[in-house]
Amino acid sequence: LYLGLTAEIPYLKKQERLTFARMGITDPLSLTDYEDHEGFTGLQHALAMSGQDIIQQVLDSGLRGRGGAAFPAGIKWRTVAATPAKQRYIVCNADEGDSGTFSDRMTMEGDPFMLIEGMTIAGIATDATVGYIYVRSEYPHAIAVLNEAIQIAEAAGYLGANILNSGKSFSLIVRKAAGSYVCGEETALLESLEGKRGIVRAKPPLPAIEGLFGLPTVVNNVITLASVPIILARGAAFYKNFGVGRSTGTLPFQLAGNIKFGGLVEKAFGLTLRELVFDFGGGSASGRPIKAIQSGGPLGTYIPESQWDLPLDYETFIAIGGTIGHGGMVVHDDTADMSKLARYAMEFCALESCGKCTPCRIGSTRGTEVIDKITSGKDREHQVVLLKDLCNTMTYGSLCAMGGMTPNPVLSALNHFPEDFGLTHAPTAA
Ligand code: NAD
Repeated sequence: LYLGLTAEIPYLKKQERLTFARMGITDPLSLTDYEDHEGFTGLQHALAMSGQDIIQQVLDSGLRGRGGAAFPAGIKWRTVAATPAKQRYIVCNADEGDSGTFSDRMTMEGDPFMLIEGMTIAGIATDATVGYIYVRSEYPHAIAVLNEAIQIAEAAGYLGANILNSGKSFSLIVRKAAGSYVCGEETALLESLEGKRGIVRAKPPLPAIEGLFGLPTVVNNVITLASVPIILARGAAFYKNFGVGRSTGTLPFQLAGNIKFGGLVEKAFGLTLRELVFDFGGGSASGRPIKAIQSGGPLGTYIPESQWDLPLDYETFIAIGGTIGHGGMVVHDDTADMSKLARYAMEFCALESCGKCTPCRIGSTRGTEVIDKITSGKDREHQVVLLKDLCNTMTYGSLCAMGGMTPNPVLSALNHFPEDFGLTHAPTAA
């Protein structure tokens, strides 16, 4: 029914809304609305299945982690389920910190039962009876809505002990995050949830084996978990039918920055950046030519026009040294100075680094200094060599993606827009 409704609204008609299908159509805190629009169908199916069969459905759907890393959700769940333990946990990473991203917030505020349902299914599949939602502290409304939705779901028997008389139990706790970007990194998040400083842990052990309080833990992003109910409701084949190659299903892309129509667009993987930014986004807000699109947050690459016709799927973006990340696309027009944006990436890393590893903690500060020397023309050629060497150390020597990905915006800006650094041509490969 609701898919039919969205088809009547022209802007929605062009989209393929699976995860965001109810958004704006139902009252977020009305359980009846949720039930009337396919809500809790996935959970009911899951309650009639074995944990193994639920995990198989998720595996068959091809669902990959929507936080940015695109790791297959089913494999993670299978690892957690197969690790012997007295207790297992489901942790929802709702510390949405990437620039230009807001799909997690919209989900929590606009369709909280969908996330609750997805987490409950994950709990039943992996035999975890407790879940935590670690929500960005800057999202007070999402925290309030989730808490209210949890109470409503519990009162109706969808959460808590003996869910729908199945004998299965799952309870949910909402935790306000620590206000730090790096706490979105899964191991720093777990430290923070345990009440400690948000400092990155070395991996291995993976959280799937030794996670929260040292026990097997599924850590999934909001959109990953929110994608699960429709997979269980309609089957893996339905979901897998969307997308291209190994990038199955849909992604709620988010348009931000210098864009005429900013907002969320849910589409199957495979459309192009040009379609997304021009057909949906209407081009730049300033009306000036677009120079670069940053995909994948503050540590994502700057994509020049020559790459706007490539299909948006995980593998294609990895092949060009980029990332789709959490689906946030930040648009810059031709007035942007890419050397300033490159410097900002290093500055951001210096501010947000947890400080545990040297490449990230020190490298980012040295990075801003080297970029300053390049742009001021001091010993430019030599400083470019130093910057590339430093980026190489950060990429391969950092403990987590924070320091490891900071070189992405820096090197893509340098390689695609050398003139902004006072260079006549892109530096040669290392
Ligand atoms: P990763 O590749 O190290 O791991 C991805 C996930 O898979 C992790 O949960 C990891 O524990 C799990 N995993 C890996 N191998 C496994 C195995 N064999 N069995 C079970 N689980 C396994 O990536 P990461 O460091 O967790 O995340 C980096 C990504 O985070 C980047 O791509 C970036 O785009 C994204 N990011 C997102 C935000 C945001 O706001 N959403 C912010 C910063 C970064």
